[in-house]
Amino acid sequence: MEDCIFCKIIAGDIPSQKVYEDEYVLAFRDVNPVCAFHVLVVPKIHICCANKITEENSLYVAKIFEAIAKITKAEGIAEDGYRVINNCGTHGGQTVKHLHFHILGGEQLPMNIL
Ligand code: 5GP
Ligand code: ZN
Repeated sequence: MEDCIFCKIIAGDIPSQKVYEDEYVLAFRDVNPVCAFHVLVVPKIHICCANKITEENSLYVAKIFEAIAKITKAEGIAEDGYRVINNCGTHGGQTVKHLHFHILGGEQLPMNIL
């Protein structure tokens, strides 16, 4: 989709620090990390937000969570644990309108919501 930063990253038009890729999913380091390990996992099709997950596209969401299990294991943060966050819409604080899940970890996270 035109004018979508994450579609441009998927297309390779904007560089990113890739940590994982398969047919369905791309994962890359957040440009503005909020903790020691901060990776974004996105579907390789444009889905604007969690409100638009349907029976037709939910395979991408399943693949995202499969990827999260692989990434956290490969990066050595699975055992200590991590947090997965999806921000949706205005109240959720979503700034990039392409569905994405934040993986946060690599250190003890605050017990309140980030
Ligand atoms: P949101 O607030 O929408 O849940 O999160 C969007 C995230 O995307 C933010 O944490 C922000 O730092 C990250 N981000 C925005 N633009 C870019 C970019 O061009 N490259 C990367 N790697 N991350 C980005
Ligand atoms: Zn997009």
